[in-house]
Amino acid sequence: MFPTDCGSSDRLLTLGEAITAALKAVQPIRESEPVPLMEAFNRVLASDLPARLDVPPHDNSAMDGFALYLADARSDEPTRLPVVGQALAGHPYRGVVPRGAAARITTGGVIPDGPDVVVMQEQCLIASDESWIEIEPQIAARLKSGENIRRRGEDVRAGTVLLPRGLRLRPQDVALAAGQGIAALDVIRRPRVAVASTGDELREPGMELSPGAIYETNRYVLIGLLRRLGCAVTDLGILRDDRDIVLPALREAATSHDVLLTSGGVSVGTADLVKDVIAELGRIEFWRLAVKPGKPVTFGRIQDCVVLGLPGNPVSVMVSFLLFARPLLLKLMGTEPAEPSRLRVMADFAFRRKPGRREWLRARLRLDPARGPLASIYPNNSSGAVSSLSWADGLVELPEDCAGVAPGDAVDYLPFSGLGVE
Ligand code: AMP
Ligand code: MG
Repeated sequence: MFPTDCGSSDRLLTLGEAITAALKAVQPIRESEPVPLMEAFNRVLASDLPARLDVPPHDNSAMDGFALYLADARSDEPTRLPVVGQALAGHPYRGVVPRGAAARITTGGVIPDGPDVVVMQEQCLIASDESWIEIEPQIAARLKSGENIRRRGEDVRAGTVLLPRGLRLRPQDVALAAGQGIAALDVIRRPRVAVASTGDELREPGMELSPGAIYETNRYVLIGLLRRLGCAVTDLGILRDDRDIVLPALREAATSHDVLLTSGGVSVGTADLVKDVIAELGRIEFWRLAVKPGKPVTFGRIQDCVVLGLPGNPVSVMVSFLLFARPLLLKLMGTEPAEPSRLRVMADFAFRRKPGRREWLRARLRLDPARGPLASIYPNNSSGAVSSLSWADGLVELPEDCAGVAPGDAVDYLPFSGLGVE
């Protein structure tokens, strides 16, 4: 279906074909490790987690008020009831509240034996010494059995699956586990990812710039995105365009990482030697996709290590990471490589292009009161414009056959937040 020898076929792979082929070649990590809850955020759950407790563990009050018997509440005259005690959160009432009496209760307090309803304190007339309460008939008439009572197990039932395996744990998922008294979770070990930038022109921020040199930006995008995903990142730094530097660096990194991510050096220029080095150390599964930016994306393998050679242009790096590398990493992490979220919105711009490749434009969304959500694009569409990435809050996606966009056309908008970038 796709070329195995460095893209000798004329037809470029579509993004969909490339992802399908690459996903087949990536196997989820199986090893897991226990981590304390506070370190479990963003990690992937290794197995189904059963609930071991009913939550809440006892019937309790949803309001501050008084627990009483519905049958004692009269709708023909005021109901006056003596207050025989209190059930505060963490301090249950001991004993049975008798018919014809009430107990003070706070939110979360255990419903004492006997009463079947809680009346909000705002709806009671309370004696100054709190020895009795009175309820007006029109309030009593509207009370229902079980009102303001949260039932044992209504939130979670013991024995059910609390959290499914493969879930990337969000704060609320970790909270659900905490609510069960679980102190540690079994999670998939982090993928080990090594990142290198290549190029003789690249300098680290903080260094002097010599003539013709530029500061390196790609590792900041890639390492930042990888850390957000929850990968364990090794920074290989900047590698010069020298086979004798690139080859040993990649060979070494491949022995101890799940994924090797490079940027630059996969195009057709004379210094583009990354591709050749991958082919020499392992094999290239495919090279070049029908996408813009990011066409020279290279996918290969060195022994058991997956190698992703991304192009050098900063915009290509971010776009190809989000749309191509990210799903592969999610699968490796043991979670679902879900499609990015897409919104159908109206274009607030004109754009001319040649059909053939799928294209992403750096975009922003705003809500127009009359016309609904409107996408605008950054004026500079160069794949070198880092400023466009910082300006944007998402991407407009143009399908392969799109021949251009006119203002008012419907376009697909991919918010960065749906791609793991907030
Ligand atoms: P290449 O794919 O190596 O031919 O690089 C394409 C373009 O991206 C060139 O203009 C490079 O200078 C630029 N580039 C490559 N790597 C980086 C990087 N790490 N940071 C910023 N720009 C880069
Ligand atoms: Mg280069």
